Amino acid sequence: MRPEALNFIVCPNCAGELTLSSDSPRADDGHILSGSLACRACASQFAIRNGVPILLPANLASVKLKTASRFAEEWTRWSDLRDYYEREFFDWVAPLTARDFADQVVFEGGCGKGRHTAIVASHGARAIISLDLGESAFVAFAHTRQFPNAHVIIGDLLNPPVRAAFDLAFSIGVLHHLPDPAAGFASLASRVREGGRVAFWVYGHEGNEWITRYVDPVRKAVTSKLPAPFLRIAAIPPAAALWAVIKLFYRPRANGKGPSKLPYGDYFAALYRYPFDEIHANVFDQLVTPVAYYLREDEVRPWLASGFRDALLRSHRGYSWTGLATVSRSKAAVAD
Ligand SMILES: [Zn+2]
Repeated sequence: MRPEALNFIVCPNCAGELTLSSDSPRADDGHILSGSLACRACASQFAIRNGVPILLPANLASVKLKTASRFAEEWTRWSDLRDYYEREFFDWVAPLTARDFADQVVFEGGCGKGRHTAIVASHGARAIISLDLGESAFVAFAHTRQFPNAHVIIGDLLNPPVRAAFDLAFSIGVLHHLPDPAAGFASLASRVREGGRVAFWVYGHEGNEWITRYVDPVRKAVTSKLPAPFLRIAAIPPAAALWAVIKLFYRPRANGKGPSKLPYGDYFAALYRYPFDEIHANVFDQLVTPVAYYLREDEVRPWLASGFRDALLRSHRGYSWTGLATVSRSKAAVAD
C-alpha cells in the first residue's frame, strides 16, 4: 500500500482513523510491503502483508472467507490480465464509459485479480480503492502496483473499511456471491457521497433457467465441496464440450447474423472469440463457489427504490442485470 491510501481507509471495527506504525518501511516505488496499521480510536491493529493492508473486522463470518478462498484458486491460476477485459468491463458497466471514471475517486467492491482495477486506474481515476476478501487481493496488488492511483485492500464488502466519500462505486460479478446480495449492494452504495454514482452487475435468474435447474444443484451438492485444484481439472471436459458447442453453432451469431433463438445467444456469441482457457475459467467459476444467487428482476429492482435518483436497471445480454443510480439521500431529492 501507499501512504495515500490512508485518505480513504478506516478501521473496520469502529470506522476510526488509521495510522501507520513506524516500523513500516517504504519500498523504492513508494509502497509499504509489510508493516502494520493502528486505529487511533479503538487501538485495533492490522497487518500489512505483501503490500496489502488486511482490514478484517473482529467478527467476520466464516462463510464469506470460504467463498473467497474458493475463488483464490481461480485468481492465482488464471492470473494474467487480457486485452479483451477492457471491452468486457465497459460492456458490463454501460452506459458508463471510460470518461465517467476519469478524475473520480472510485471504490471497487470485490476486485478479484484486479482486472477492473487496472482498467479504471489506467483511465485516469483520481484514485481507486479496490477491496477483496481473499488472497486474490495479493494478485490484484501485483497487477496494479505500478499505478500511483490504485490501492488494494483486504476487507469485507458488507462492512467496507473505507470512508463514505466516493464519487463512484462499482461491483462486477460479486454481489451474487454474498450471503445477502441486497445488503452487499446497500453497503457498496453507503460509501458513495451524495450525488455520486453506484454501478453493479449480477447474475440474472431470467435467462439462466438451464443453470438454475441443472447446474446449480450439482454445484451445491458436489462441485462446491470438491478441492479447488481438483475441480479445476474436472471442469476441463464440460468446458471442452461447451467450447465445441460455441465453435460449432455460434459463429454466425458472433458475426452478427445468426438466429436469435439460440440459448445464451449474445453471451456465447461474445465467448466465440475467446481462447479455450477463458471458457474453462467460466465453467470453473460456475462450479466452485458455495454461494451463488441468480437474481430475478423483481428482487434486484427494489435495491434502487429509495435513496437514489436516475436509477437504471437493464438486462445485460438476457442473462444478467446491470444497475446504475445516483445517490440521493436528501429528503428534498426524494420528493422530486
Ligand atoms: Zn477502531
